[in-house]
Amino acid sequence: MILLAVPYTHIGLVLQSRENRQRSPKKGYRMAKKTLTSVKKRAWKVFSEMIRRTRADDDGMAYCVTCKQEFPDKAKKVHWKELQAGHFIDGKGNAILFDELGVHPQCYSCNCMKSGNKIEYFRFMQEKYGDEVIDYLRRKKHQTKKFTIDELENLMVIWRSRYG
Ligand SMILES: [Zn+2]
Repeated sequence: MILLAVPYTHIGLVLQSRENRQRSPKKGYRMAKKTLTSVKKRAWKVFSEMIRRTRADDDGMAYCVTCKQEFPDKAKKVHWKELQAGHFIDGKGNAILFDELGVHPQCYSCNCMKSGNKIEYFRFMQEKYGDEVIDYLRRKKHQTKKFTIDELENLMVIWRSRYG
């Protein structure tokens, strides 16, 4: 027990001291500094909102695409705020993260509980776009895209203008 506890404590101390160093108020620019991570996080929020709002009707109501695929007659429209933006192919590899062909409104249950409900998502993609787009996204997922802060900020302006 003691042997196990030692490395963890050690890691804890290292992490803590690194955090303290970053939060040091010595350098004045620290407050205004934007990191790529923080801008990317904000960009995802804007992108996600654009996906959900542009696919909603005039009353702001939209379907979860995979519920609609699975239960065409039973699925109900909900307000876009109650939906999430779910990836057809997981977007962690930057290249497809912000590709709107592969991101659609999904409910929490399909996106999170059913890990994207991929079988229904695949059928949805096939019917909506066909194999060409599916293959395009399959290829693109292997590409790495390094966004810059400027690039993301420009994209956010474009995305906002689409629902603003
Ligand atoms: Zn759903």
